[in-house]
Amino acid sequence: MPADEFDIIARLFAPLAASEGARGLRDDAALYAGKIMTTDAIVEGVHFLSDDPIETVAQKALRVNLSDLAAKGARAEAVLLTLIWPQSRASAEIEGFARGLAADLGAFGVALIGGDTTSTPGPLTISITAFGAPLGPRTPARADAKPGQDLWVTGEIGDAMIGLEALSGPPSVVLSLEDQDAVIARYRVPQPRLAFAKAIADYAAAAMDVSDGLAQDAGKIAAASGVRLVIDVAAAPVSAAAESWIAAGGERAALLGGGDDYEILFTADAGLRDAIVAAGAETKLRVTRIGRVEAGAGVVDETGAPLVHGYRHQLGA
Ligand code: ADP
Ligand code: MG
Repeated sequence: MPADEFDIIARLFAPLAASEGARGLRDDAALYAGKIMTTDAIVEGVHFLSDDPIETVAQKALRVNLSDLAAKGARAEAVLLTLIWPQSRASAEIEGFARGLAADLGAFGVALIGGDTTSTPGPLTISITAFGAPLGPRTPARADAKPGQDLWVTGEIGDAMIGLEALSGPPSVVLSLEDQDAVIARYRVPQPRLAFAKAIADYAAAAMDVSDGLAQDAGKIAAASGVRLVIDVAAAPVSAAAESWIAAGGERAALLGGGDDYEILFTADAGLRDAIVAAGAETKLRVTRIGRVEAGAGVVDETGAPLVHGYRHQLGA
């Protein structure tokens, strides 16, 4: 019987991670030696598609890690890269991979400081470990939400899910070519919200980046903090392309269950509303209040109905 990713981490690995900086393996990143550290792998056929451009595969591998640092209020500094290249994939493509990586290391001001390169009979796999510096005295944890706080999210939710659907076969909802290109780009090339990391360090109580679906990831903040999150589904920010998708028959609430958003979900005291709105304006980033923190457990909509969709990796046979 396959095992659930989160159950395996909690049951088998968390007991081995006793140091305070490991945060019980219930956070996006660890604190060690004054730095914030995170590692995330992407696998062909799981996190990207075999025929995605190799330049964007490199960008996604880097950006999913930078997203975790942004969500912890850190500045990205350096990365280690492990490249596991399939025996069946043309080696000439590695040049494109390096080009995509170079462009993003430059754009984000991050240094490549090492890694490992090996080949495999399996799918293309890229693992990156990223190191960052805290931008404030606090590093917001998933466990820091308190009843009475607001719930916020950066950017827009659901585009990547629509993009993956468009790439994966006949889509259930037909989009214009322009909208389709926009959502596919969101799936292939996430936008780590590093420009907002200082605001997260200054204002967020709890924070995490949304990678497995907003509703499910909100559940991780709720569980780690011992609170209930109430989300106003109608307030969830979506792009113009996603509005067209909804108008053509897509279900708005489904966007809260799609993966690969890489936006920051955070809670903050109600007294910080003006400061958060100002920080969004200053960094030219949409920031939306989508709900509130209450006593209790789980994630619900305004009617009290549970919101639980999302992606969980199943391990083994
Ligand atoms: P994120 O989606 O933010 O990268 P994950 O859900 O992948 O976070 O991981 C949650 C927590 O579990 C993190 O603290 C991560 O470091 C830890 N973790 C995941 N897999 C392992 C593992 N194999 N060994 C040790 N810690 C792990
Ligand atoms: Mg994360």
